[in-house]
Amino acid sequence: MKVLVINAGSSSLKYQLLDPDTEDVLAKGLCERIGIDGHLKHTPTGKDVFDADVDMPDHEAAIKEVLSILQHNHYGVITNMDEIDAVGHRVVHGGEDFTHSVVIDNKVMRGIRSCVPLAPLHNPANITGIEACMDVMPDKPMVAVFDTAFHQSMPAKAFMYAVPYRWYTENKVRRYGFHGTSHQYVSQRAADLIGRPLEELRIATCHLGNGASTCSVKFGKSIDTSMGFTPQDGLPMGTRAGAIDAAITEYIADQRGYSAKRVENVLNKESGMLGVSGVSSDFRDLEAAANEGNERAQLAIDIFCYKVTKRIGSCAAAMGGVDAVVFTAGVGENSATLRARIMEGLEFLGLKIDPEKNNVRGKEAIISTDDSPNKILLIPTNEELMIARDTARLVREMGDK
Ligand code: AMP
Repeated sequence: MKVLVINAGSSSLKYQLLDPDTEDVLAKGLCERIGIDGHLKHTPTGKDVFDADVDMPDHEAAIKEVLSILQHNHYGVITNMDEIDAVGHRVVHGGEDFTHSVVIDNKVMRGIRSCVPLAPLHNPANITGIEACMDVMPDKPMVAVFDTAFHQSMPAKAFMYAVPYRWYTENKVRRYGFHGTSHQYVSQRAADLIGRPLEELRIATCHLGNGASTCSVKFGKSIDTSMGFTPQDGLPMGTRAGAIDAAITEYIADQRGYSAKRVENVLNKESGMLGVSGVSSDFRDLEAAANEGNERAQLAIDIFCYKVTKRIGSCAAAMGGVDAVVFTAGVGENSATLRARIMEGLEFLGLKIDPEKNNVRGKEAIISTDDSPNKILLIPTNEELMIARDTARLVREMGDK
């Protein structure tokens, strides 16, 4: 089976054509500057890369370009559209309605639209991507895979904020969590690598990229996660502050004469590693600056590592212990230094990192010492594969009915 995975942003669209059974990626690519002018980078496996400006006035035009290059006689990987069996869409917010991936129909579209107020930047872009695909490929089955769905197993004590209950019932204020597809994927792979059933394991997954979150995956289910009502909650990130005292918002608005919207914007785009260091939101730049003696870059790294360390501790407390810690995403997969720093002081949880084994990048590995009672792992995330697998499963189930 071949599944086209689509991740639509407001002016971008990432895609991958893959076989979820063999895990072969046939091609992947990125459309950028949609609605502005347009640029397409298309990377077919084993063939020349196409990287050029292409007119893309809207998402529909972008999808048409993607389908056309997938069938191109030089850059293409399929001969005709019939080879694409289904389309899987990443959708950021599924609210409380979507606890699993679903085949898209009119009712599902209404559900995704009803979540727009919860994700005003992301869900409209995802909807545009789905609608564009429906227009261009009306006969293909489509599946929505939600970032929030995996966390819908959290118990109320974990997902509720201690605010007036009517804020929850009337305004949907609660913790939803994000990066669910990634946390689910790496926890499954961790069980495979450890060679024990997922249903027996308590795993703290650390998705540390430009956005960062941890998840307590107990016996295969998310029971808690660090992101909340929005991706702002929890860990400090590239440009996001992470959890802060809510009173700071009004205080700083008064002190600096900012509107609430501006404060929110600063907390989202000018805080985190960038805000503290004044150097960059990118951990590579931070590590380089810190090595040259930049104290604020070092402080930003210190804050990040300290908070991740504490979060792993709270994952262990939430699950009554921790059998494994998993690192994934840009920082988690690439920075041996940060992984080592984060694990410092967690030996009391039976987690001992092996400096030699930790000297690895971007590939699956167990990086704890052989005598470490619990395991530490590096697992590159693969949200596209997870989306393709869910899509294939649901489309097959649909065929069985
Ligand atoms: P992601 O959001 O998962 O794409 O991750 C992006 C983050 O990963 C950026 O902050 C990058 O600086 C970071 N990253 C990528 N490669 C490295 C590396 N070799 N060392 C440290 N951080 C890295």
